[in-house]
Amino acid sequence: GCTAHDVVVALRAGAATVAEHRDELIQLDRAIGDADHGENMDRGFRAVVSKVDTVAPETPGAVLKLAATVLISTVGGASGPLYGTAFLRAAAAVGAAGELDGAAVAKALRAGMEGVVGRGRAAVGDKTMVDALSPAVEAAKNAAESGESAAKVLAVAAEAAHLGARATEPLVARKGRASYLGERSAGHIDPGARSTALLLSAFAEATR
Ligand code: ADP
Ligand code: MG
Ligand code: MG
Repeated sequence: GCTAHDVVVALRAGAATVAEHRDELIQLDRAIGDADHGENMDRGFRAVVSKVDTVAPETPGAVLKLAATVLISTVGGASGPLYGTAFLRAAAAVGAAGELDGAAVAKALRAGMEGVVGRGRAAVGDKTMVDALSPAVEAAKNAAESGESAAKVLAVAAEAAHLGARATEPLVARKGRASYLGERSAGHIDPGARSTALLLSAFAEATR
């Protein structure tokens, strides 16, 4: 199972990926937004890492909750409250469990997505992070129902998220800043969908 320490390690891996892909996320957001997604995410995940390293919460849920509060206060933009809500709901979904198995990870992912949808009101196909999250949640559910481990559930979720993110390229945005561009938003991958897929890959690789 996935312990509080494993979640901390996963968040560190997430922060490293975001830092590594900072410029790419900036470029994606430059094409259909305001070019700050890479900066927003890098600032936020750096802050998450330094916070969880100093506080060292004792359960996976407490780590996720702490990450949520830091993301809400540091990422900014549209994605900050959305990612913050996702982590907050994931934290609530896992409760006080000391370790997360595949089923708990799948449940946390679903709760996270429901938080994003509840807050941002985006549907699949609107060209947002929901286009990466939704197939990830579905894949995670199937893997968990087959009794897969937390690591395997994250791995299949990440793979599905990458396909979902790639599939945002031809779409016309219906939510967020990119929607102001109308038809001109087509032909670019959504930055938030890309960051979601990158984070899930990092979490999967760190958990394995
Ligand atoms: P901002 O657009 O305020 O500059 P960011 O650039 O950090 O914020 O984040 C943009 C990303 O946020 C988009 O690529 C999209 O994935 C996501 N996003 C924006 N609005 C919504 C929404 N209503 N629902 C889900 N995701 C959204
Ligand atoms: Mg932006
Ligand atoms: Mg912005």
